[in-house]
Amino acid sequence: MTTTLHGHCLCGDVAITLRDWTPEISVCHCSMCRRAGGGLMGGFVAPADAVTVTGEARRYRSSDFAERAFCPRCGANLWLRDDGAEYELSPGLFDDATRFPLIREVYADCAHRFASFSGDHPRITRAEYESHQPHVEADR
Ligand SMILES: [Zn+2]
Ligand SMILES: [Zn+2]
Repeated sequence: MTTTLHGHCLCGDVAITLRDWTPEISVCHCSMCRRAGGGLMGGFVAPADAVTVTGEARRYRSSDFAERAFCPRCGANLWLRDDGAEYELSPGLFDDATRFPLIREVYADCAHRFASFSGDHPRITRAEYESHQPHVEADR
């Protein structure tokens, strides 16, 4: 059994090692993720104390409770993180994440037509998601 998961950005300046993670991918189609990710963002979760980052990760505060990190050299998306919470890491950084299953889509009713996934996973609409997330102002 693998005990660590290794990933890196496109140029290799930023490397990420995980000691713990959940091998399940969530996709978000909100307007911020559409813009930041070229149409959508996928992520899988790792606890903050299990994440080791080598190299400079630049952070952008995309809302008043969350940051998005990227490599300042190649621009690869690294993670999305609510303040003090777990990391939601970009699956594309990790070769071993290609086998992780998609378990849910958020803002599914806001998705680009090209970003349509097969399967019977939950598809949560914007209204459903925001009704359970009172701190989310509104999709921007
Ligand atoms: Zn890079
Ligand atoms: Zn989003």
